[in-house]
Amino acid sequence: MSFHSITELFQEADAKKCSPGEIVCREEAERSELSYQAVWDRMAKTIPIFIHAMRRGLADTRKSQSGMVGGDGNRIYRTEPLFMSPVCHRALAYAVAAAESNAKMCRIVACPTAGSCGIVPAVLAAVGESMSVSEKDYTRALFTAGGIGEVIAEKAMIAGAVGGCQAECGSAVAMAAAAAVDLCRGTTEQMSDAISLGLKNILGLVCDPVGGLVEVPCVKRNGFHAVHTLVAVEMAMAGVHSVIPPDDVIAAMGEIGHLLPKSLRETSRAGLAVTETGKKWAEEISKQNQKSAK
Ligand code: SF4
Repeated sequence: MSFHSITELFQEADAKKCSPGEIVCREEAERSELSYQAVWDRMAKTIPIFIHAMRRGLADTRKSQSGMVGGDGNRIYRTEPLFMSPVCHRALAYAVAAAESNAKMCRIVACPTAGSCGIVPAVLAAVGESMSVSEKDYTRALFTAGGIGEVIAEKAMIAGAVGGCQAECGSAVAMAAAAAVDLCRGTTEQMSDAISLGLKNILGLVCDPVGGLVEVPCVKRNGFHAVHTLVAVEMAMAGVHSVIPPDDVIAAMGEIGHLLPKSLRETSRAGLAVTETGKKWAEEISKQNQKSAK
């Protein structure tokens, strides 16, 4: 890609008077030597997969193989919200549902990773349903999300094993925030603010999955961070400005990721994974694995 920062991407989009997503699609077409339309259509084809992962999770009340997660997306979806707006409530249910689909080994779109696969689709679906958006709008917003992920992957990291959960769920929040502003036809300044506000407030989040499975805390964390993304978007669209710009926040995330001890980077050697309950589940999962290997 010719852009190596959010600033460069957004400057280019402003100069061309288009969405960052269209710049990303054009760049990807040049890189892959495909036509713009072919790259666009390839992205559009992921939309039904996103939707299917959420719908399947909403309808499926079974537990995952470990027994730790499952059925919560459905539970949230069919319960009237007490305090949340319908958009936030749907985003919460959708994100949990998609992450449950991942825990049950169903087909999902890693965006940017499998562990954080619920945030981007949930935010886009919940926001999209509240306005009238077309497949073209969703596709453009997904390219915008992809451009943000591209910069984060280059400048910092997107894997929990490298930079903790801030890298996985944080990247997803940044991607979803920019994409949601795109759907709302906001400016690149509002996208910058939404990315910064969302990502700043997830910095330092560790990766400590129980039993080494992408289930606890991952599934519910997707739900929390879908709503967190909407808070960032709401603030940015209201004109709330982040003092720290997105490229600096990404640099800070990279630094923090490298400072995190290995024990809190997907090794399950600290945090929730080694609590009394976490260890009991790890033992149970290990027994299940031994049984199924026989
Ligand atoms: S806790 Fe670790 S495995 Fe779970 S979503 Fe976060 S980064 Fe991924």
